[in-house]
Amino acid sequence: MIEIKGKGNETIKVNTQVFINNEWSDGVNGNSKKEKFQLINPATEEVMGEYFLGDSTDVDTAVKAARNAYNSKWKSMNPSDRGILLYKLADLIEKHRHVLAVLESVNVGKPYGESYYYDLKQTINTYRYFAGWADKLQGNSIPIGHMSANAPTFALTRHVPLGVVGLILPWNLPLQLLTWKLAPCLATGNTVVIKPSEFTPLTTWYLANLIKEAGFPPGVVNVIAGNGVQVGNAISSHMDINKVGFTGSTKIGKLVQVSATNSNLKHVSLELGGKSPVIVFSDTKNPSETTTQSLFEKAIVDSYHGLFWNAGQCCSAGSRIYVQEQVYDEFVQRMHTMVKNRVLGDPLDSKTDQGPQVNKFQMESVLRYCQIGQNEGARLVCGGKRHGTKGYYIEPTIFADVQDHMTIAREEIFGPVMCIFKFKTISEVIERANNSIYGLVGSVFTRDFNTSLVVSEQLDVGLVWVNSFNIIDATIPWGGTKQSGIGRDLSQYCLNQYTETKSIILHSNL
Ligand code: NAD
Repeated sequence: MIEIKGKGNETIKVNTQVFINNEWSDGVNGNSKKEKFQLINPATEEVMGEYFLGDSTDVDTAVKAARNAYNSKWKSMNPSDRGILLYKLADLIEKHRHVLAVLESVNVGKPYGESYYYDLKQTINTYRYFAGWADKLQGNSIPIGHMSANAPTFALTRHVPLGVVGLILPWNLPLQLLTWKLAPCLATGNTVVIKPSEFTPLTTWYLANLIKEAGFPPGVVNVIAGNGVQVGNAISSHMDINKVGFTGSTKIGKLVQVSATNSNLKHVSLELGGKSPVIVFSDTKNPSETTTQSLFEKAIVDSYHGLFWNAGQCCSAGSRIYVQEQVYDEFVQRMHTMVKNRVLGDPLDSKTDQGPQVNKFQMESVLRYCQIGQNEGARLVCGGKRHGTKGYYIEPTIFADVQDHMTIAREEIFGPVMCIFKFKTISEVIERANNSIYGLVGSVFTRDFNTSLVVSEQLDVGLVWVNSFNIIDATIPWGGTKQSGIGRDLSQYCLNQYTETKSIILHSNL
């Protein structure tokens, strides 16, 4: 158990053991051979607490519990009862919304307002959305005529759960990204073994108690916090896990897919990295409009939030901003003005716009990219340095005049580093925007209907926003093309990823 200091005098107790069969324990082999891991507060660099990393034995125990729960009760439960449990969980999350937001903010370093108003809202909505799907997984009936005289024959399709699913999650939006997978996974009748990122397990641990309180039977949801080499790999290579759902980097996603395939050919879905383009056409600027009404203004504001949200630690960060030459200089100058006013500070302080990067490793990695950008000749408009000496803060950074061949134009930086490019024509910008190994999301700002149609059709990405950025909803599919992943989270489209289609052919033999 560790005690996390929240707002004012508030302290929040969080259990740090493994959670199997609705019980907390040190696992069957205890902690004597386990490695201790320190949870560091990224804003202060202080140790918030220590815990023992789980291991492959814990994963085995959790899989057995999940399999037993699946066979004994979960798969045959009335689907609407599964839905009721998910609604109850959403209600409990709402009741504990403040505490969960504090834990997320302290652990990740993200501003409390972002956690409370955005992450927690999305989390609650997503559980409710998938609760509604639990009893609506209907198949089809397919008439195939008479296979022989007087022998009517037809087929049924059913959407049956896969069984035991392993979920491996990243550190950037721990609760929300877990929810995107856990909610549909449970709604469709699977049981689960969860591995949160070793850096950010706080909200997942806290959620485990709410899952028990909501009344989910023992073994339906199990949580093992640990590192990727031990716990992550034990999940992706386990012979009795039917599917692994992974969100994280492209590099690790490829490893997960290989080990999932080489073990028992389990199902795999991957939500991976991005280098997403935002395209701003000069027609956004209409001289007859006031600044506050103009689409050009909206393009600046949305691009600003689209990149700097969560200190740039977002898979969908709009990290390549292409601005048409006529409005390029003004865009850079006005973006600079906005960025200068950005307030860095304590994530729990309501005045804070940007917290620290999640850990020292990430801070150093982002600073290296800032140096590479300068070495390769991009124009540093602002930032590029560490902010202060305590906490893993980085000054919000803008690079202008970025060229497509530069490292900062091609690789995912995952920090508060904006790259602005100049373009002339629509065909040129589409080609350049598509010239990436990634294809997660993209955005286009224009008043011209034809331009928006052509760009949204031709961008090779999983989701395009027209005249907006980062509108995300449980009802809308989420996922990428190319090396941004395989499969979709959210929406009814993701339900297929947690079920098998089973055909039953009924043949009368009278
Ligand atoms: P990461 O790939 O380093 O780690 C993700 C998870 O995989 C962690 O839980 C980690 O412990 C585990 N892991 C590490 N090695 C493993 C192995 N060998 N086998 C199995 N599991 C292993 O990613 P991260 O640094 O935690 O998160 C940032 C990345 O996630 C970025 O690339 C970002 O773009 C991506 N991301 C994508 C989406 C999306 O929806 N597409 C959303 C959020 C984050």
